[in-house]
Amino acid sequence: MAPRRKKVYEGKGKILYEGPEPGTFVQHFKDDATAGNGARHEVFEGKGVLNNRLSEFFMSGLNAIGVPTHYIRTLNMREQLVRQVEMIPLEVIVRNYAAGSMAQRLGLEEGVQLPRPIVEFCYKDDRLGDPLVPEEYITAFNWASQQDLDDIVSLALRVNDFLSGVMHGVGIRLVDFKIEVGRIWDNDYPRLVVADEISPDSCRLWDIETGRKLDKDVFRRDLGSLTDAYSEVARRLGVLPSVGTHRMKPTLIN
Ligand code: UDP
Repeated sequence: MAPRRKKVYEGKGKILYEGPEPGTFVQHFKDDATAGNGARHEVFEGKGVLNNRLSEFFMSGLNAIGVPTHYIRTLNMREQLVRQVEMIPLEVIVRNYAAGSMAQRLGLEEGVQLPRPIVEFCYKDDRLGDPLVPEEYITAFNWASQQDLDDIVSLALRVNDFLSGVMHGVGIRLVDFKIEVGRIWDNDYPRLVVADEISPDSCRLWDIETGRKLDKDVFRRDLGSLTDAYSEVARRLGVLPSVGTHRMKPTLIN
């Protein structure tokens, strides 16, 4: 029997296990979806498989164009090998169009194009509901330095350009998204990399023609089948060629 792996962390949508080599983790995607900071919780069969494939697609694309991420390689249908990083305790949000909390806060109609992409930060703390914080708080409380923040903004804008372009190519508007950033050490030099995941759980994706939502708002707002929406994104990007997720048993890819 395979030895049991040590669980390092379990979150709402993913589990991290100790990796096979030092400095690595195995990131396992679960089928669970939560909304309202965990107030609602449901399980959607196949969501973890879809998010693993989609996150692989986006992260490896970023790596290929020189935007560093924690992604190393995919291990099986639900798991990927990633680099261990020191997480910066921020949710970094990039917005191209008004939606969600920004639309509410400013009284903007959802879908209004913003004058330019806007980057904002939330402090990662579930007990507090991940509050929006100004840069002043971030540097004063030492969550990140001003240099880190400058680097995070340029990283986030490069991710935005890449994702917007890729999604536009398949008829999808990237309304907004969230990334998380971690620090890695290469020969004593610190470097910031995109960590966590990039998937329809953490983006707003609207069909350009019809406005149909293809992201987690389908669950948050009860708009239909979440896995249908995510499968549509995967199908358009060509990462799940016409195979039903229910038939996907874990198999080794690498
Ligand atoms: N987001 C996320 N995790 C969070 C909060 C937000 O991935 O804990 C993503 C969300 O999917 C959207 C973007 O960040 O793509 C902006 O979300 P917003 O601040 O509008 O919050 P929401 O309306 O989702 O509460």
